[in-house]
Amino acid sequence: MPIEFPILPQTRAFVTRQLKMLIDGRWLDAASGATMSFLNPATGEILGQVPSAAAEDVDRAVQAARRAFDDSPWSRMRPRERQNLLWKLADLMERDAQLLAELECLNNGKSAQVARVMDVQLSIDFLRYMAGWATKIEGSSINVSMPLMPDAQFHGYIRREAVGVVGAIVAWNFPLLLACWKLGPALATGCSVVLKPADETPLSALKLAELVQEAGYPDGVFNVVTGSGLQAGAALTAHPGVDKLTFTGSTEVGKQIGKAAMDNMTRVTLELGGKSPTVVLADANLQEAAAGAASAIFFNQGQVCCAGSRLYVQRKHFDNVIADIAGIANGMKLGNGLDPSVDMGPLISAKQQGRVTSYIELGRQLGATVACGGESFGPGYFVKPTVLVDVDQKHRLVQEEIFGPVLVAMPFDDLDEAVRLANDSPYGLGASIWSNDLSAVHRLIPRIKSGSVWVNCHSALDPALPFGGYKMSGVGREMGAAAIEHYTELKSVLIRL
Ligand code: NAD
Repeated sequence: MPIEFPILPQTRAFVTRQLKMLIDGRWLDAASGATMSFLNPATGEILGQVPSAAAEDVDRAVQAARRAFDDSPWSRMRPRERQNLLWKLADLMERDAQLLAELECLNNGKSAQVARVMDVQLSIDFLRYMAGWATKIEGSSINVSMPLMPDAQFHGYIRREAVGVVGAIVAWNFPLLLACWKLGPALATGCSVVLKPADETPLSALKLAELVQEAGYPDGVFNVVTGSGLQAGAALTAHPGVDKLTFTGSTEVGKQIGKAAMDNMTRVTLELGGKSPTVVLADANLQEAAAGAASAIFFNQGQVCCAGSRLYVQRKHFDNVIADIAGIANGMKLGNGLDPSVDMGPLISAKQQGRVTSYIELGRQLGATVACGGESFGPGYFVKPTVLVDVDQKHRLVQEEIFGPVLVAMPFDDLDEAVRLANDSPYGLGASIWSNDLSAVHRLIPRIKSGSVWVNCHSALDPALPFGGYKMSGVGREMGAAAIEHYTELKSVLIRL
């Protein structure tokens, strides 16, 4: 596996060693001995192998998580100790931040520099935010009425308790961050976890597991099973020993997971796809809006669930804004994410490259004009940042999630039309409005059907702000107090005095 750019010796050592999965505090191969390869998307070369878990391995991991939750030092640990452990984990991630960033770059293709300040730093900040929650989980006491027992006295209260064993399945676009979005609230509330990273990106999850061990978590609290979605993912989804499933990935797979969860009445939250609108009003600072719209779609190669993949610009400025975005796109340097001068890395896989280019081809066939980009190249899985205009709102291009650096853009005339176009989507994950007209902005916000609305920014996430989708973009929320609710159950207690 030649890596032509300088990386830390620790990164090289981690990637080149024989990787195993963490179950019950032990590093194991799959029971069957099966392995699966993962690639470096910048070169298309095999980067390494991990165990390919099947139902037997998943069962072992769920049983370990069950023991850790029900009867172990973890189950008796006090909130302050859970807080301190999470903080320690964040400190260890800070120590190894460059290594984690390089792993994300090698395995996902994204820029190592960007991964350091975004993926890794946001993960650290998020775990520290969640550490604070460990000591703030509260129930409430209730003055009950009990009309049928007028002479009796009662003490009624509500406990908020950890939900139990969490099965977490994540996508490949932000492997570490998505894993931490699950791990943070689970460990803050006292749950135990079985994580299945995406088939394509197991590396940072395994490093994270190593740091969890180093932080001193008891065995079985955090388990990682590497393997395919169809085998390991499906086994975790169907396992009756899992109390809650938390999934980040496509809407298609999310629906299957939601249905399977209902068979066992497993609690479930789903963070799914998107086709988020960027809406530029005529009064906006147009240069800022164009730069913001470009970054909304091209960041992380467009492989962002809440990417601003549909652009609506008030008609009189449409051509200017498109010209500015095309200028930004044409100036972007594509290449290996280990090269600090690169603006955009490769897509995750040949499959994703093929999918994205087939949408661009479809656009051409449907009469769309390619304002910039449109080409793909190798070695590695590169697609140039692309803007398509002359598209119809009903096109599949506008309605379906492409999940690549492809922007579809069209003009609008008034605010009612902007709202209609923005909401005309099966998805509802995020939306941005670019304007300095406070009155117009405040009138728009309640009318936009999406889980997040950003004004004069896009995809701006904070650990304290709930993130998740309306409509086909999912069920439930990550982050903020809302996440704590999803990792806990309520227990009503009534004591007759
Ligand atoms: P995917 O749904 O194919 O895979 C996601 C995960 O599910 C992977 O770990 C995969 O192995 C597993 N999986 C696949 N089939 C499974 C099955 N039958 N049973 C159980 N698990 C299974 O998605 P992807 O292609 O990896 O990721 C891209 C998608 O993720 C996009 O749609 C994107 O919008 C979405 N996403 C959403 C968010 C969010 O927070 N809303 C964040 C990131 C990505």
